[in-house]
Amino acid sequence: MPDPILGIHHVTAIASDPGENHAFYTETLGLRLVKRSVNQDDVSVYHLFYADHEGSPGTSMTFFPYEDARLGRVGTGQVSTVSFLVPEGSIDYWADRLDEAGADPEDQFERFGDAVLRFRDPDGLPLELVARADAPPANLPESPVPHAHAIRGFFGVELSLTSADPTGELLETMGYEETDREGTRRRYEAAGDLGFVVDLKVDPQGLQGIPGAGTVHHVAFRVTSNDQAEWRQHLIDRGLRPTEIIDRKWFRSVYAREYEGVLFEYATEDPGYTVDEDLDELGERLVVPEWLEDRRESIETELPPLSSG
Ligand code: ZN
Repeated sequence: MPDPILGIHHVTAIASDPGENHAFYTETLGLRLVKRSVNQDDVSVYHLFYADHEGSPGTSMTFFPYEDARLGRVGTGQVSTVSFLVPEGSIDYWADRLDEAGADPEDQFERFGDAVLRFRDPDGLPLELVARADAPPANLPESPVPHAHAIRGFFGVELSLTSADPTGELLETMGYEETDREGTRRRYEAAGDLGFVVDLKVDPQGLQGIPGAGTVHHVAFRVTSNDQAEWRQHLIDRGLRPTEIIDRKWFRSVYAREYEGVLFEYATEDPGYTVDEDLDELGERLVVPEWLEDRRESIETELPPLSSG
C-alpha cells in the first residue's frame, strides 16, 4: 500500500459573483489569493485559489465563479460543509468579525469537544470555523485578520451520504481512522495537522445535492508523486473509476467519484503554486496554462474585474 494520506490538499467550489467571492475570502476570512487563473474548460470563468501565504497543501480553497450561476442545493452525494481550523479562544472574535461583515454567523456550538462557529459565504456555501488548542501556527503575514486568530488552513470536510459504510471503508484504506460517532455523524481522522478530518453525515432520506453556486465541486486529498499511480490502482481495485493522471501545472490530479457520487481528487503536493510565480507575487497577475498563453490578452479583457470596489 502507498503511504497513508495526511489530509486534504484543496477544496473546489462554485460561486457566482467573482468580486464578492474575492472580497469575502481575502478581506473577511483573511486568506491570500495565491493563484488567479481560468477554468481550463471555460476560459471566460476565473479559477481563484485562496490559501495561506505559501499556498501550502491543506490550505487552499478554490472557486469557479460563474457570474450568472444558478444557486445549487446542498444535499447528499456532496461535500456539505467545509471547515477551517482556528486557534482555541478565537470563536468570539470570529463571531463579531463575521457579524460586522454582514456574514451573519448562524450558530455557535460544541462538537466532539471543539467550539464550532457555523456561517455561510456570499453564495450560501456552508462553512465552519473549528477551534483547537493544537492548531499549527498561522502563515498569513499580510492578512487583515490578526495573527492570533488567523485561519490556519482546513480543519476538514463533511460529506452528506445516505449510507456511511462504503465511503467509511474507503477512507480507512486511505489512512483515515474512525475516531468518534454521535447521532448521524461519524468522524474520520488522518495523521496530518491540517485538513485531517472527514465527517460522514448520514441521512438515508436526504435530498440529493444539486450542483450550482454555493456548493462544493470536489475535495482533493494530498498524495506524493511517488504514490499517485498506486492510489489510482487502489481506487480501481475498490470498484471506482478514476481518471488518468492529469497535469494541472501546480499539481497532478486523479479524480474519482466515491460510491454516492462525491467527487474525490488525489492531488500531488508538488510542484506547488510557486512553480510559475514568485512567492511574493502569487495571485497578482492572471496565469494561464502554456497552451492558452497566446490568447492571454483576449482572455484577460473578457474577465470581470476582481476588486469589489
Ligand atoms: Zn481540484
